[in-house]
Amino acid sequence: MLDMVFKQLDHLYEEMVAWRRYLHMHPELSFKEVETPKFIAQKLAEFGVEVRTGVGGRGVVGTIRGGKPGKTVALRADFDALPIQDEKDVPYKSTVPGVMHACGHDGHTATLLAVAKVLAMHREQIEGNIVLIHQFAEELAPGGAKPMIEDGCLDGVDAIFGTHLWSGLPLGQIGYREGYTMAAADKFEIEIMGKGGHGAAPHQTVDSIVVASQLVTKLQQIVARRVNPLKSAVVTVGSFHAGNAFNVIADRAKLTGTVRTFDPEVRDFIEKEIERIVEGEVLSSGASYHYSYQRGYDALFNHSEETRFFVQTMEQVYSADQLISDDPSMGGEDFAYYLQKVPGTFFFTGAGNPDLGADYPHHHPKFDIDEQALLLASKALAAVALRYLNGDQITMDASVKVAI
Ligand code: MN
Repeated sequence: MLDMVFKQLDHLYEEMVAWRRYLHMHPELSFKEVETPKFIAQKLAEFGVEVRTGVGGRGVVGTIRGGKPGKTVALRADFDALPIQDEKDVPYKSTVPGVMHACGHDGHTATLLAVAKVLAMHREQIEGNIVLIHQFAEELAPGGAKPMIEDGCLDGVDAIFGTHLWSGLPLGQIGYREGYTMAAADKFEIEIMGKGGHGAAPHQTVDSIVVASQLVTKLQQIVARRVNPLKSAVVTVGSFHAGNAFNVIADRAKLTGTVRTFDPEVRDFIEKEIERIVEGEVLSSGASYHYSYQRGYDALFNHSEETRFFVQTMEQVYSADQLISDDPSMGGEDFAYYLQKVPGTFFFTGAGNPDLGADYPHHHPKFDIDEQALLLASKALAAVALRYLNGDQITMDASVKVAI
């Protein structure tokens, strides 16, 4: 069956690209998606897939019920865009000022639609069910995954697989990893309240800029000196605002930043350690402070058994040099929450190609992908879902090897 599925995906390539380009031209921001979920629901209905809309708010869930009994596997694609002005010079450039698909979620959506269309044609031979999770609002915490799970998108699901098209990985490569793969992504704010005054009379003031400057440096010691060097962590101060005149000592300074971790204990530790450092600094200077720490997505943990299953499947359809055991990324991803409920794995599909200008990092105003990655991602998802349900007989045919 898989050889036929791959041929059908090959034939669908131009349509897949057309869907991706349509979505690329009409991006919608997280929690504001209206036309995108309509587009998806309409396509799924056209393919004869059972559709539920408004899942968890704006999500769309399709279900392909196989003709034979079996397990249920879920595949997920996100569909939101970013508040970035598209600076590419291409015919499919965003038509919405200040909004852009700069992370490839348009491609994820087109890929999963293609998988849905083809697998729906084979439903009679499928042993079990395939749940297609089209998720809204991945880019903005608290994200769309949690409300979709609460609204039942994983009910009855035995395992889940998802992919991210990745410009940092060359086209033709598939990156995988067991265990922690993407980081918990948190935000902190520190406000220092000193005592303002004349720039010529510092002794009568508590200079919030000096206090906050000390903090910028001292916070770096958390990762350098306090966290076990065998564990990963990032503390970044991303903004520093204070003062508005050259000869006035500022009474307030505000720092905001992000913390990235994998290990939940390291995450808890850093949240407390930042405050401990702030407390020490204001105590010695006579300032006071407000501190807030907002947790973003949890770290994403890929389950061993399902990751190995995925890799074994890919070994049957890709050549060995295309499969890359990848480093983790300190980026965040709310696919983490699906993996807290059901086992599965999240993998990366190489979409980088410098010859096409598809080598900018994600969230860059010139971000783009090599669209051939859509086809490769669709084959990876279709193969893992079918093998999960129907077992090894679906990959026996030698013609299922993916060439690139
Ligand atoms: Mn993304």
